[in-house]
Amino acid sequence: MDACTFDALLSQMTQLSSHQCARLLALLKPRVDQTNTVDVLQAAVAGKLCCPRCQGTRLYRHGEANGLQRFRCRDCGRTFNCLTGTPLARLRHKDKWRDYADCLLESRTVRKAAAKVEVAKNTSMRWRHRFLAATRSDRPVRLNGIAEADETFLLESQKGARVMDRPARKRGGKASKRGISHEQVCILVTRDRSGQTWDFVTGTGPVTKAQLHHCLPPILAPDALLVTDANQAYRAFATEAGVAHDFVNVSAGQRVVRQASGAIHVQNVNAYHSRFHGWLRGFRGVATRYLPNYLGWRWAIDQERIRSPETLLEAAIGVFNS
Ligand SMILES: [Zn+2]
Repeated sequence: MDACTFDALLSQMTQLSSHQCARLLALLKPRVDQTNTVDVLQAAVAGKLCCPRCQGTRLYRHGEANGLQRFRCRDCGRTFNCLTGTPLARLRHKDKWRDYADCLLESRTVRKAAAKVEVAKNTSMRWRHRFLAATRSDRPVRLNGIAEADETFLLESQKGARVMDRPARKRGGKASKRGISHEQVCILVTRDRSGQTWDFVTGTGPVTKAQLHHCLPPILAPDALLVTDANQAYRAFATEAGVAHDFVNVSAGQRVVRQASGAIHVQNVNAYHSRFHGWLRGFRGVATRYLPNYLGWRWAIDQERIRSPETLLEAAIGVFNS
């Protein structure tokens, strides 16, 4: 529309009835919402974009599609936009993404989020895991100094699975056996005193020495001191792997041991566990296969790297402003 016609159109707006104003707003809101979301995402990757095929950085602008700036790679000719290759590629209804991100931050259930942003329940489910997928691979490089490690357990859930290998439990449900059994999924959390955290879904039942060998050596700095409870698996692992290790006998009522190296306890990692469980309760049960997404998300929230719907959208395409 040329400027004159637009000015003429604008001048008529003062004559709109309130009902007409509301209709006009309803017409424009999705456009504005989509533009705002696209602006956030495009700004997050500005100057960092490269060709998804050849990683070339010599790009030129090549029109727009679906509200997104399109680029073409000078080296290989591939066209792409800032969402190509990210979990948000080809998702529709960008005008609703920001509100959906808000629902995620409020830990709304899939159903409630679907109702709030007016999308189908299946879309809400798909969006949740697309929005969170990138947080799964975002973790600190190494843990330094005192690194506390401890396990926490969740009842195994095949929620959403097409084929289950046991009868479904009623929502939430209870284990049929007491204590830690193979109905419980083990989550190993390691956290150093600066708050850097790693987590692993090790499988069902108690953590084993072999699993510790698999998980811990790559993430512990050479001079880190591993601190755990008295679980024999940690002691055997540490001896075999040559990892410095100290432990508190929590089940015997011991909480803190004072050592030259610092206070030996697992209270930071246990506090992390309880924040995780408290937050997870809002979702009314999560499928075990998606647990790494929730753990990644929890870590990003805990580090205050996801504070707003905008930072969540950025994180969804792998941009974390730590
Ligand atoms: Zn290229």
